[in-house]
Amino acid sequence: MLLRVLGTAAGGGVPQWNCACPGCSGARAHPERRRRHASLAVRTDDGRWYLVNATPDIGDQIEAHPALHPGPEPRRTPIAGVVLTDAELDHTLGIARLREADALEIHATAPVRRALDERLRLGAVLGPYTTLTWRDLPCHGARSLTSATFGRPDRSLRISAVPVSAKRPRYAADAPETDGDDAWVVALRLYDPATGRSAVYAPAVAAWSDALHRVAAEADCVIVDGTFWDDEEPRRTGISSRTATGMGHLPIDGPGGTAGILATLSARCLYTHLNNTNPLVDPAADQHKRLARLGIEVADDEMVIEL
Ligand SMILES: [Zn+2]
Repeated sequence: MLLRVLGTAAGGGVPQWNCACPGCSGARAHPERRRRHASLAVRTDDGRWYLVNATPDIGDQIEAHPALHPGPEPRRTPIAGVVLTDAELDHTLGIARLREADALEIHATAPVRRALDERLRLGAVLGPYTTLTWRDLPCHGARSLTSATFGRPDRSLRISAVPVSAKRPRYAADAPETDGDDAWVVALRLYDPATGRSAVYAPAVAAWSDALHRVAAEADCVIVDGTFWDDEEPRRTGISSRTATGMGHLPIDGPGGTAGILATLSARCLYTHLNNTNPLVDPAADQHKRLARLGIEVADDEMVIEL
């Protein structure tokens, strides 16, 4: 299994177009600090790629990674589908940018699919452009990713979802409660049966559940929500009246923070989904040293992880 990090920023990116905070200003002055919206590409043994989340940066993200380029035939793409961790706009707006495809497969949990289909009306809007096929993302039991475009299931990658939050996107805040209500936001477990190796990708974590801990404890690589450094960061920086936890993101530092949990895992652990207010967007910040002492990394755009 090969993972390519396509982006590592939370909503808005770094820099965010309307923000002059130190993190955004720093990224304008130092382009190497720029971070695209958090996303991952996963390659299976037969060479197909799945994108985890489809961000507003998806066009640039594909162009930045030659392995994702089309060819040799003019319209042949190695990208077999998109797997969604949630229905947030920053993780789904890129779907519309893929409308030039003959067919597009979206793997999502039931509440995420309903939000995109009934609230954003993605199926109705994109129907005249491409054939959109929804695939159920299972929360109980893993399965091989299937792609009609590629004609057969790829048994080298098994995927399952672990619900981590019932937080709805703002545009679906009044969505009625249904079965599977906790599957609005999920962590993905990617498992290669040939090697027995697995990765967990969880760009939004509202609570560290026992189920999440189980898959993280046996994983070889864990890439998790690093949106905010501490719980007060959103209020201190003036971007919200809520705490990090109140916004659906466990902070990295402090009581109940994820750094203390990750430090106990044997997996290679990395943070992604950094908000532009997070001190970690400055490579010189002391917080990097604190994480390094715990053996925890901060993912970078274009990082490659082989498992
Ligand atoms: Zn900013």
